[in-house]
Order: sequence, then structure tokens, then C-alpha cells
Amino acid sequence: MCDFQEVVDAGSRKTFFVNYGIIDLKQLNFKIMWYKSGQEFKRFMDAYHALIIGSGPAGLFAAMQLERLGLDRIAIIDRHPYPAGGLLNDGKLNFDYRVGIDLDELQIDRDSAQRLMEEIRQVFIHFPKCKQVTFVDKNKTIEALGNIAKEHDAQFIAPEQWHWGTDNGKAVVDYLRNHLKKTELLLGTAVTSIVKHDDNTYHVSCSHHRKKVCYATKVVLAAPGRSGAYWFRDVATKLHVRHNFGPIDVGIRLELNRKYYDAVTDIVYDPKFIFRTARHGDRVRTFCTNPGGRVRVENYDNFKLVNGDALSGRKTENTNFALINTIFLTEPFSDTTEFGHMIAKQFFLLGGGRPIVQRVGDFREGRRSSSSTFNSATRHFGLCKATYHATPGDITLGLPARIIDNLWESLKKLDKIVPGILHPSTLLYAPEIKFFDTHFITNENLETNVKGIFVAGDGTGKSRGIVGAGISGIIAARGIYKKYF
Ligand SMILES: Cc1cc2nc3c(=O)[nH]c(=O)nc-3n(C[C@H](O)[C@H](O)[C@H](O)COP(=O)(O)OP(=O)(O)OC[C@H]3O[C@@H](n4cnc5c(N)ncnc54)[C@H](O)[C@@H]3O)c2cc1C
Repeated sequence: MCDFQEVVDAGSRKTFFVNYGIIDLKQLNFKIMWYKSGQEFKRFMDAYHALIIGSGPAGLFAAMQLERLGLDRIAIIDRHPYPAGGLLNDGKLNFDYRVGIDLDELQIDRDSAQRLMEEIRQVFIHFPKCKQVTFVDKNKTIEALGNIAKEHDAQFIAPEQWHWGTDNGKAVVDYLRNHLKKTELLLGTAVTSIVKHDDNTYHVSCSHHRKKVCYATKVVLAAPGRSGAYWFRDVATKLHVRHNFGPIDVGIRLELNRKYYDAVTDIVYDPKFIFRTARHGDRVRTFCTNPGGRVRVENYDNFKLVNGDALSGRKTENTNFALINTIFLTEPFSDTTEFGHMIAKQFFLLGGGRPIVQRVGDFREGRRSSSSTFNSATRHFGLCKATYHATPGDITLGLPARIIDNLWESLKKLDKIVPGILHPSTLLYAPEIKFFDTHFITNENLETNVKGIFVAGDGTGKSRGIVGAGISGIIAARGIYKKYF
């Protein structure tokens, strides 16, 4: 907690004593110096109208919106030295209200969702490297694929899609950053705690190059992404911000020779097949397809997850996509984040610090994959060369039986819709887990039960992807402006 005894006028550097509680936050043209009981000067504290935690799409679009509304003294804090969040990854954009957002969670209807999506779309389509990859209007092949999927009890969704590729990640971030004229970027700065003061301002303590810094703000917008979700949950609990647990998506990433999936991905870049399993009645879906892409690892503090991306310029011989099972937990344990962490840590141990990979050929025979036979020509494993060096092993050791049942049942159906998916060489990587399960209870402005604390993006359960994160950022920014300025 910061204790303040002295304020320094930023222009004249004239020092005068105040009780911090009486400072009018509408006149924030000063810096506050933090003295600790008569000791020498420790540090400055800047005061902001709105402080955004996280420079991913939720944070960036929120800042852009606040600027457009005329607000100044805005800052984005990010623990990384480059303002990007998940924007550096792949960049497939889905413009369809059925993908990446939950209308109930955002308390908007379809028309509002499409309008907000159009605002995001207008920003991205003017980025020259962003190319349209799925055209849905009057597309007979999409209709035909939908019918085949229906025959196998699956739903097929083909949204309008655009893509820029990981190799254009920095360019897209620079492009977005150029839209910001008044927002300060406080980078390489990790927020450690948020404390509410009696005068309804927040003191946000951070660590910057191992030094402690502290900022004051009227409003906090937390958009910490999936990697910051666990951290923010603890901070929010201390502030008495209410949350509950939604379902969590747990599954695997498939990597296969792209010739088996090209017939579909040439038409729909990132096809969405949704299954309801017969055995358990659970929902399984395909997600994040990367034709000609690579399997990637997502680093967390105590474990690693698999993910995937594609470059725009250089393509591999493979295609990868996620197959994930939506898991709901009720009594007596509903903490889906903890459940996901347990699975992820188990894989981390079993794989010796790396994700596990198993060939479909080995999986079918109920045996683990091993380094000695991993590329066996006699078993036709050479047809799919792994793009990520995971530990050959057995994915059934780390995933609960119900999830394995659901994934395998869905894969067999998918193999009927798109024959060849289950070639023995196909690789099954685990774990793929999506941590957007902690849901903060908010009003239509995305303000929590604690006044002045707003949330947006994947880490707070408000989105599942770049477009959705951007939409939630815009909604929160409009809410902030409407209520506080
Ligand atoms: C490999 C990969 C590929 C992906 N491909 C796609 C894709 O093609 N299309 C798509 O729509 N989505 C994709 N995603 C998901 C996408 O990245 C996220 O949905 C999106 O970035 C979420 O946006 P966000 O603003 O909520 O959070 P993020 O983009 O995750 O941003 C959150 C930011 O908060 C910062 N932060 C967290 N905690 C703190 C703290 N304590 N202090 C300071 N800063 C903090 C983080 O450093 C981070 O920069 C991909 C993700 C990965 C990992």
C-alpha cells in the first residue's frame, strides 16, 4: 500500500504537503512523490483517469475507444516490454457473432455484436497484411460441407475470416499502436497489487525492472488475458470483486499431413465442427486451425500448453487444429481453473517439462509413442513430420477418461466427414487448455460489483479470441466514459 505525504507540481517542481485524499482527480496535472516516514525520496506516482492492465486486443481497443471519446490521462500497463498480448500470434479473425464471444456474458444482442464486430473489422482490414481467407457469401461448398457434417450429427460453422500470420505480428501491433495518440504505455511493468483508497481512487502497485512503482487512477480496466487470469483472480478477490467459474475447454491439438484437410481449409480457413458426444452428452469442437502451420508452445509459470499458428510467407507440409472438450464442474468442486492447472501440471511432469505427443497409430494400439519409433517408415509415420519437439508418450495418462472418450468419439466422426484425419502418422499433442473460465460478474458496461473496476478480454471470461477481446474492450471503454466522465 502506498502512503503519500507530499505532492510535487510536475511543472514547477514546487513541493507542498497535502492529504492525498482531498486531491481532485479531475485536475490530474501533477505527479505525486512518495516519501516513506521522512526518508529520502523513493519514487514518483502518476495519476490517471483510466489505467488499463494488459496491452492485448482488449486493452488496445479499450484505449482507442477512450481516446475517441475524448478522454486523456490513459495508460496501459503490461509486464512485457512490447505492447502486444496475444496479437503476436497468428492473427486469424472470425467475424461472426457465433464465434469467440458469448452474447449473454456481454449482455448484447446479435445486432449489437455484429455492429461492434464491424468496428473491429474496419480497423483490421485496413492493415495491408491482413487478408481475407474465408468468403462465405453464396458459397455452395460451405453449404455442402454443412450437409455432410449434419449427416454425422455434427454442426458446421464457417465465419467470414481474415488472417495476417505470426510473421506480421509486430507490424500489426505497430499499426494498432499508431492509432493511440494520448495513451501512455507503461511497459515491462508487472502489476502486483491494486488497493482501493478511501477517496475511491485505486493505487496500482507494480514492479518495473525490480523496482517498485505505484500509480493512482480513478478507474481500472483489467484485461490481463489468459496468462494473467490466475493472478488477477487473486487480486480481485482481495478487492471483493465477485466471480464464478464457467466451463473450461480441455483437449488436444492434432497435427496431420495437410493433404488430408486441404479440401476443407481451401474453402474455410478455420472450419468449426461442433459435436455432441453420444456417450457423455458433452460438447467437443474444432478450434484454431492453421493450414500449413506449426504447433507452438504457450508458456505459463508452472507448465506449458500446446497451441498453433501459421506464417503468412512460409508454409509447412502440415495442418494443425485444436479439438477441445467443454467441461462443466458443479458440486463439490467448481473451480475449473484449478482443474485445468492440475491437468496441465500433470502433463508437465509426465513430459519432463514439455507437452506430450502421441501418434494416432500408437494411440489406436493403446501404447505410448517413443523416440525410437517416432518416425518409423514401416508404420508410415514419416507422412507427418512434427513441427514441434514434444515428448513422445501417452496422452491418456494425463487426460481424464471422460475427455479421452469424448475426443476419440468426435475424431472418429470427423474422420468420416474429412477422410484421412486419423491416418496413423497424425500427431496428438496435449495438453491444449483454454483458460477463459473465470467469469467476473458485471453489468452491461463490464463494470464489476466494485465501483471503478472494469474487466475485458479472455482472462476475465468476456471473450475467446482477438475479435471478442476487442469488442469487450470497446464495451468497457464506453461504460467507463458514460459512468465516470
Ligand atoms: C499461439 C497462439 C495462437 C493464437 N491464435 C489466435 C488466432 O489466430 N485468432 C484469435 O482470435 N486468437 C488467437 N489466440 C488467442 C488470442 O491471442 C487471445 O484470444 C487474445 O490475445 C486475448 O486478448 P486479451 O486482450 O484478452 O489478452 P492478451 O492478448 O493475452 O493480453 C493480456 C496482456 O496482459 C498482460 N498482463 C497479464 N498480467 C499482467 C500483470 N500482472 N501486469 C501487467 N501486465 C499483465 C500480459 O502480459 C498480456 O500482454 C492465440 C493464442 C496463442 C497463444
